[in-house]
Amino acid sequence: MANPKWKTPRSKTRSRRAANWQLGPVTAVECPQCHQPKRPHFICEACGTYAGRQIVEAKDEHAAHAHG
Ligand SMILES: [Zn+2]
Repeated sequence: MANPKWKTPRSKTRSRRAANWQLGPVTAVECPQCHQPKRPHFICEACGTYAGRQIVEAKDEHAAHAHG
């Protein structure tokens, strides 16, 4: 009835797999705190903030808040 006349050839199966394994280019947005490029919905690598809050200690001395 509503079936394909032929099964998918092995070559087509391989090309289908090969087309989908690779990830796209990494997108970046500007961090509102230190204005460095960061990945969206990720904490900023440079200043360690997300959504205006300090999540982790900043790697960079200049971007860190003064704690003493
Ligand atoms: Zn930042």
